[in-house]
Amino acid sequence: MRDLKRTTVLSLVLLTGAVLAVTAWQRQRPDFTPEQEARLQIRQVMDGLYVIPGFDGGQSGGNVAVRVTGDGVIIVDNKFPYSFDFITEQVASVTDEPIKYILNTHHHGDHAGSNADFLPNAEVIAHKNVRANILRNNQTGAPRVVFADETAVYLGDAEVHAYHFGRGHTNGDAVIYFADLRAIHTGDLFIHGQRLDGSTLAPFWDVRNGGSAVEWPATLTGVLALDFNTAIPGHGETLTKNDVRTFRDNVEKVLDRTKAAIDNGATRDTIADQVETGDLGWPLAPVRLQDVYDELTAN
Ligand SMILES: [Zn+2]
Repeated sequence: MRDLKRTTVLSLVLLTGAVLAVTAWQRQRPDFTPEQEARLQIRQVMDGLYVIPGFDGGQSGGNVAVRVTGDGVIIVDNKFPYSFDFITEQVASVTDEPIKYILNTHHHGDHAGSNADFLPNAEVIAHKNVRANILRNNQTGAPRVVFADETAVYLGDAEVHAYHFGRGHTNGDAVIYFADLRAIHTGDLFIHGQRLDGSTLAPFWDVRNGGSAVEWPATLTGVLALDFNTAIPGHGETLTKNDVRTFRDNVEKVLDRTKAAIDNGATRDTIADQVETGDLGWPLAPVRLQDVYDELTAN
């Protein structure tokens, strides 16, 4: 957060208007320490699959999966609006093949932020609600190709499916399935790790963009029906199918505990005090539990 502050202050000094300052920050890659920079470098997950890591749920952006084939490259997500050069350099360090397809797991700016920079030379594919959310939120880089339930890209010897199993983080979540590698990229339906301030990444049901805590477990149950061993989360280190199962079970626990608290008389104002989530490793902000309360008590 210190880097962010320094960049913002510097921008305010250098530029005249606050609007210009915000734009400048969004277009500029922050300074990372050498240790953080090392954690951001592309690494091989298995033969033909790499990840450009996002580790903190903030300035490092989301994980980018890179599927390399003899006929071109498919990437999943593309971090922030300032990430295009970094991503293309990282991919070029492992292959001479061009990036031909970008699959978005959802519309958030730390995952689909550099769509616009890729669009002149590649196709961006996403769930139809990703396009709607990007347009409604005045983001750039709306995907030209959309799908409702599933789609697939066949390139070289690779088979890459995108599935929408229902709502969770947003209303446009896609899970990307590298069928021949038995690996997935989950987007933010499954996240793991620590922010730069030391806090733990916890699930975020973005209700303003159609997210749903109530439907999240069923969506992950759909994911778990896929045949995979390796799970690249939206943020954090690469994990396993069992970790996805544990994550789903913990979201269910949050729902069960919130329901029980409501049955015991909790109100919207007291719900955050009456639902404990620390043992799950998730310090949920009060507003997150109020969103669950609203969803459970609707209609
Ligand atoms: Zn997100």
